[in-house]
This record gives sequence, structure tokens and C-alpha cells, in this order.
Amino acid sequence: MSESVVLITQDGVRLDGRRIDELRPVKMQVGVLKNCSGSAYIEQGKTKILVAVQGPREAHPKHIALPGRAILRTRYHMAPFSTDERKSPAPSRREVELSKVIREALEPALFLEEYPKTVIDVFIEVLQADAGTRSAGITAASIALAEAGIPMRDLVTAVAVGKVGGKVVLDLNEAEDEHGEADMPIAMMPSLNKITLLQLNGRLTRQELEEGVNLVKKGIKELYSLQKQALRARFSGAQVEV
Ligand code: ADP
Repeated sequence: MSESVVLITQDGVRLDGRRIDELRPVKMQVGVLKNCSGSAYIEQGKTKILVAVQGPREAHPKHIALPGRAILRTRYHMAPFSTDERKSPAPSRREVELSKVIREALEPALFLEEYPKTVIDVFIEVLQADAGTRSAGITAASIALAEAGIPMRDLVTAVAVGKVGGKVVLDLNEAEDEHGEADMPIAMMPSLNKITLLQLNGRLTRQELEEGVNLVKKGIKELYSLQKQALRARFSGAQVEV
């Protein structure tokens, strides 16, 4: 995190031309893979992620099965070609941690008790990383799980806010994440107004934190509407990008 890069002008215009409260351009598509029970593709700015859901299916080996509910397994993985410098395909500590964080963000929305002794796998493949990958991964995973027919309390929608050049801004890109002062990814069940993930890297005052949560809610409202549009497009039979 450094101060030397001018990330935002006095008038509040960011390097990529966005205002402080604007998301990057977002595209979502549901039902992009044939060998899965659910799948989704998301682009958020230059971040590109593919999510595949398999299951619910019988848990193997049998001893991992839980009598009263399905096990949710999530794997967050960055492709070797997803970053500027080749990333080792072996799972890093960061990927192991993000897999867990993403699982915990999704789990509260799912009625896992409807599928005892089974396992549901969620594969999150980051094809191109430009910050916000955990958030975009959660947003896409949630619509892939919906396509798989897993009953849900609500979708889960996520986006980060952060602080750059002293201003609280929505949906950081990689330059803002790298050179900014703070990064705070948040996931919510929007209709239930419940937060399922909140992390903070860096420092924010209490007022900035409140400002951040309000900005996130604005972004999540827009993303939630795109998620529902993508699901409608899938189930109306029209495979159109939204
Ligand atoms: P998130 O992608 O959820 O914002 P981080 O804050 O950990 O997660 O990472 C921010 C960004 O930094 C990533 O989206 C990616 O663009 C970049 N990044 C993360 N890990 C690596 C890596 N191993 N090599 C190159 N870039 C990386």
C-alpha cells in the first residue's frame, strides 16, 4: 500500500474513469457447462471467473458423510495464467483460506439439511484476476448453486469497498487494491439484509466503515438484480448474456 500512485482525482474520478460509487462493468451467465448440475461465468471489469457445481451426490468415502445434512465443499483456484506473473498451479495458502472463507459466506444461504449424507462441490476457477475475485466468485457461485436446484434462503451477493486516496470507493480493481489504503470485501443475503462475510485489510475509521457498508449495499443491489436476470435468462430458455 503506497501513496505515490494517484488513484483518484480531487473531483473523485478514478484511474479507470469510474466515480467512487460505481461498479466495474459486470456480465453474468448461468448454465455455461454441460457436465455439472450448475455453472456460471462472471466478468467484473478484468476479473473473469468460471464456477461449476457438482452434486448433491453421495459422499465418498462414506465416513465423511454427515447424517443430518449435505457437506458443502468449495475450491477456489487461480489458473496459472490468471495473474501477471505465472502463478503456481499448486494450491497456495491464500487459495486454501479463500476456499474456506467462500464456503462460510455461502453456507448460511443453503438448506443443506435437505440432502443428508451427500456432498455438494463448488469449483471456483479464476481465469483472470484483477482484484475482487473472492467477491465475484461468491456472486457467481450463488447463481450456479441456484441453477443446481439447491434450495436457498436467498442468493448471496458480494463486492468489496476500499479506501483509495483518502476516499471510500466501491469495487476496487487491482491497482486500487495494491496501492490503496484499505480493502473490505462483504457478502450479503440481500433480501434478508444479512451479512455472511466481512473482511478488512487495512484501516478505516468508524465513519468510513459505515460509508463503506452503505456503498457495498448499493453495489450489491445492482449485482443482485443482475444475478436474478441471469437466472431468468437461463430458465426462460434464452441463453443470452446479460
Ligand atoms: P481478491 O481477489 O478477493 O481481492 P486479494 O485481495 O488477496 O483477493 O487479491 C487481490 C488481487 O491481487 C487479486 O485479485 C489478484 O489480481 C492479485 N493477486 C492475488 N494473488 C496473486 C498472485 N499470487 N499473483 C499475482 N497476483 C495476485
